[in-house]
Amino acid sequence: MTNSIEEVANQAFDYVIVGGGTAGLTLAARLTEDPTNKVLVLEAGPENLNDPAILTPAPPGLTMNNPKYAWPFKTVPQPGLGGREMPMQRGRMLGGSSGLNFLLWNKPPAGDIDDWEKLGNPGWNWERFQKYAKKMEGFHPSGPEAQELHRQKTIISSHGLDGPVKTMFPKWVCDVQNPIEDSIRAAGIPLAKDPFGGDPVGTYMGTGSVDHRTAARSYSVPAYYVPNKGRSNLTVLCGAIVHRILFASFVGGGEIEASGVEFEHGDVKHVVDARKEVILCAGALKTPQILELSGIGDKKVLEPLGIETKLYLPGVGANMQEHLFCVAIFELGPNVEFGTFDDLHNKDFAAKELKEYAHHQGIHTTFLTGLTFVPPQFITRTQSEAVELIASQKAKVEAAIAAGTLPPGLKEQWMLQIERYEQAKSGSCEVITFPGFFGGVGEPGKKYVTIAGNLNSMFSRGSVHITSHNLMDDPAMDPRYFEEHFDLKLFAELMRFVRRIPDHEPLKGLIAKEVFPGPSVSTDEQIQEFIKKHSNTTWHTISTAAMLPRDQNGVVDGNLRVYGTKNVRVADLSVVPLHVAAHTQREAAADIVMGKA
Ligand SMILES: Cc1cc2nc3c(=O)[nH]c(=O)nc-3n(C[C@H](O)[C@H](O)[C@H](O)COP(=O)(O)OP(=O)(O)OC[C@H]3O[C@@H](n4cnc5c(N)ncnc54)[C@H](O)[C@@H]3O)c2cc1C
Repeated sequence: MTNSIEEVANQAFDYVIVGGGTAGLTLAARLTEDPTNKVLVLEAGPENLNDPAILTPAPPGLTMNNPKYAWPFKTVPQPGLGGREMPMQRGRMLGGSSGLNFLLWNKPPAGDIDDWEKLGNPGWNWERFQKYAKKMEGFHPSGPEAQELHRQKTIISSHGLDGPVKTMFPKWVCDVQNPIEDSIRAAGIPLAKDPFGGDPVGTYMGTGSVDHRTAARSYSVPAYYVPNKGRSNLTVLCGAIVHRILFASFVGGGEIEASGVEFEHGDVKHVVDARKEVILCAGALKTPQILELSGIGDKKVLEPLGIETKLYLPGVGANMQEHLFCVAIFELGPNVEFGTFDDLHNKDFAAKELKEYAHHQGIHTTFLTGLTFVPPQFITRTQSEAVELIASQKAKVEAAIAAGTLPPGLKEQWMLQIERYEQAKSGSCEVITFPGFFGGVGEPGKKYVTIAGNLNSMFSRGSVHITSHNLMDDPAMDPRYFEEHFDLKLFAELMRFVRRIPDHEPLKGLIAKEVFPGPSVSTDEQIQEFIKKHSNTTWHTISTAAMLPRDQNGVVDGNLRVYGTKNVRVADLSVVPLHVAAHTQREAAADIVMGKA
């Protein structure tokens, strides 16, 4: 049981954490290791403790359109998607999006993280990232037989073994997995050398945030809240929606000092005091809203709404970066006998699998398994195509720099992206496999395999800004997908590659036909239209309160402190300054707050 409003309203805590999601609960657990820190977490959503819909790993995504678990956000109409509004679900419960996500646990290339340091953030490099990633990870390796059978590349030194977030390779692996990997290799992709040690370029089997002892989702609730909920210095209130930060006064150097926050609980507004700090962990789509409603942001956004600009920081809500994915679906031939997720539509198979899961076995224990991360040079039809595509984007970037038309900070980010592309260093093009018909239902009795293309280093930048005083009105989420045409052109090449994988044996011999998008989509123009219509966010939004120098539209410094404030920090994904080739669940903030990092 979490705490009651009586234990919170009009009380004072050392640290008030806004948002009890992935980052918020992690930070609260670490800060309360010091018994002298009195910490409050305010979470908008419900507890949802011990809920099988959250804990059962597969099939993925069953809770994400249910208001009991998710914020039903969507973008404003996107010109780059033909006017489509993109659903942008996020976890709205204790655990946040770590309770809603697809459980994939992987790590980016070392160079992607080192780029954060190059952008003006000393110490934010691969070495530190890996130190904290290992601290949070409790990896359980499979036995030698499973490692060999399922090609689970296991380099123990690249994993953390004792951390609270339990990770493992899948117990249940579909028999289509090895043929897919062989066909990807036949298409010219190498095996990844050290996927969890900073070198994931190539193809490999991914791990998931699943506890091997229970075959249940390991997320920030069992990892960080449950083991620590008895601490007398930790208070967690659910159903508490924070509206704004309250400021006491200006202090030395023109900085403002937060005194606490105003929040709503059961339709009643309350105030709670922060003796030391207010730390925002409301996620990349809500943190900028709270900053703006508190008078921190761009005058051009705040003044038309009659909000006094207490702190002019035009980077709030700007520099939004996304990942996108799009799928191709293939029907498996009639002779295929192995099970896929499609078989869950068969009552007998479904009943058998439920029994299996009661013994921590079977299809419900699994997650997305096959991963490939490569630069464009590996996936375009010819090498020169990739080289020309990158060269033309470089020329465009250089022209924009020469014309002085870029917003502050973008030049530095784009030049690093160009370098990644030119040196073929990163995993900007990702391929994920799913044994079944993803996102819908195929023909009864048939089996499918889905292969997704994910784009991880887009040049387009969007924004998240308030359009009203009311926190209950979602901010305008505008990723401006494909504003940079390079992103769409590269995505089309990636989808061509995805669709070529089944041209190679052994997958070729298992596939009957491509059903989505199907043979009517073949020209560059048709593929681009298909992507505009059917691509999906990968729910990895970052950089809406970016950790960058202040004159480069930065919102927080390298200690995650909001510029111009004495005691407000942001510790969620909003601070990440440049996107990486990886999925985004992840710890470092507590040691920074306590000055130990
Ligand atoms: C559907 C989906 C699938 C994903 N799949 C994967 C995957 O397979 N692998 C992977 O690595 N990553 C995945 N991700 C991404 C990953 O889960 C997120 O990047 C990560 O969890 C974000 O953490 P966060 O702390 O920034 O935000 P969150 O975990 O979303 O936490 C924000 C919290 O703040 C609360 N909040 C918001 N506003 C307020 C307010 N005003 N007052 C109080 N509380 C508030 C929210 O309710 C929420 O609990 C996925 C995400 C989604 C949504």
